[in-house]
Amino acid sequence: MGSISTHNTTLEWSQYCNIIDGDLCTTPRTRHGINPATGKANPEVPLSSQEDVDRAMTAAQKAFKQWSTTSYDERRQAVLSFADALETEHAAFSSMLTQEQGKPLQFARMELDFAIQWLRGIAKLELPQEVIEEEDRKIVVRYTPLGVVVGIVPWNYPILLAVGKIAPAVMTGNTIIIKPSPFTPNGDLKLCELAQRFFPPGVVQCLSGDDELGPWLTAHPVPAKISFTGSSFTGKKVMESASKTLKRVTLELGGKDPAIICEDVNIKEVAPQIAQLAFLNSGQICIALKRIFVHEKIFDEFRDAMVEATNNLKMGEGNEPDVFLGPIQNSMQYDKVKGFFQDVEKQGYNIAVGGTNPSGEGYFITPTIVDRPAEDSRLVLEEPFGPIVPLLSYSTYEEAVEKANNTMYGLGASIWSSDIERANNLATKIEAGNVWVNSHFQLDPRVPFGGHKQSGIGTEWGVSGLISYCNSQALYLKK
Ligand code: NAD
Repeated sequence: MGSISTHNTTLEWSQYCNIIDGDLCTTPRTRHGINPATGKANPEVPLSSQEDVDRAMTAAQKAFKQWSTTSYDERRQAVLSFADALETEHAAFSSMLTQEQGKPLQFARMELDFAIQWLRGIAKLELPQEVIEEEDRKIVVRYTPLGVVVGIVPWNYPILLAVGKIAPAVMTGNTIIIKPSPFTPNGDLKLCELAQRFFPPGVVQCLSGDDELGPWLTAHPVPAKISFTGSSFTGKKVMESASKTLKRVTLELGGKDPAIICEDVNIKEVAPQIAQLAFLNSGQICIALKRIFVHEKIFDEFRDAMVEATNNLKMGEGNEPDVFLGPIQNSMQYDKVKGFFQDVEKQGYNIAVGGTNPSGEGYFITPTIVDRPAEDSRLVLEEPFGPIVPLLSYSTYEEAVEKANNTMYGLGASIWSSDIERANNLATKIEAGNVWVNSHFQLDPRVPFGGHKQSGIGTEWGVSGLISYCNSQALYLKK
């Protein structure tokens, strides 16, 4: 493997390297992702070996000694400067995001906006320190960094979700190794390359690889914590592997978010929003709407308005104008989503809109609404992570809440009503980490994000997100 210094270099978008100990490192073997809209190969990226993992771990441990003793303010300045640099590189990152992830350019730009906002928002947070007693002795509860952290990132929001791990980890004095998804490695490698200008060698590193890399990282004895975002299935494997050395884990996993549509909504206004919240990012969002419960009194009218709104959503390659849905990100996911279509067809469920998928280049799936499939169907129980959603009905609010909660997931949910008091009241009855009234998917770096039940363990972002990267230490000091 070779290495190139990162000092005084500008970002060069044709070569992609691992970031180890402040250097850009190549590997003897490489691999690449695929542009999901065209099927063309993306630029080659490193294929890390176990030896690369060991080197990154050693560098992270070494860097931790210094970084954990720098002042909070110094770390904050580094994160803020990183945010400014990302803003300068906004256009190039957005363009690569559309190329490797498939999302329309307008939404790629939005992801970059969020990433910058998250860096700045998390940098503003203060890590609390509590004085419990100050008489004969002083008792202080403070938070100390854990050490080396591994951040494992999925392919749906590769930039935002990487930033959402880097910022709190380094703010609290940890060092972090980012592992991008093999499907979207290019942007994350550049993100960590950019970070080298603001953080000492070994503080922010990045390793790209294939399916072996994640298990090597979670099994390695050095990391104190794994921050994982991905499916509930993989999250369980991560937790099992981390348990061997009692690594801390934060698990941000899958969802099956319900929307409860009350009978008093303004149908013309709400139905298009619901369609967009189900089909944004082609349904590949942990908190996309994945079950829509509509009051039986307005069911037909609401369904027809959603169908009309869905017909207006343009699908295509992300650089085309006005595109709302890009392709599914990868072939594995494409086949998985198509499995839901096959099941719907086999069961003979009614399709309100969509249903047939284009053939040809790219993993395109038509946004599809299925009208009242069986409540124990795959589409109602499982997470397709694609643009196919069940529309269901209910007759009482008690029944709606019971159905909304009838899932192993508990990530997000929303209540839609003109009666705010009713909606707020229903919101408190939902078993989920994030519940919105008359909106959905509105996130904030100041607010802890996490799931109930099998949607995850712990929270990211907000002050409790910072604390999740720390040990709690009680100091009993003599005065
Ligand atoms: P995934 O679980 O397949 O992969 C996520 C990451 O884990 C990738 O980087 C992958 O390479 C890595 N990985 C795979 N096997 C591993 C192993 N054994 N050990 C360690 N790492 C391993 O998920 P995905 O398909 O990339 O993402 C889609 C899923 O992520 C959906 O279920 C979605 O709901 C969920 N998600 C959750 C959130 C959240 O914040 N809760 C956000 C985005 C996505």
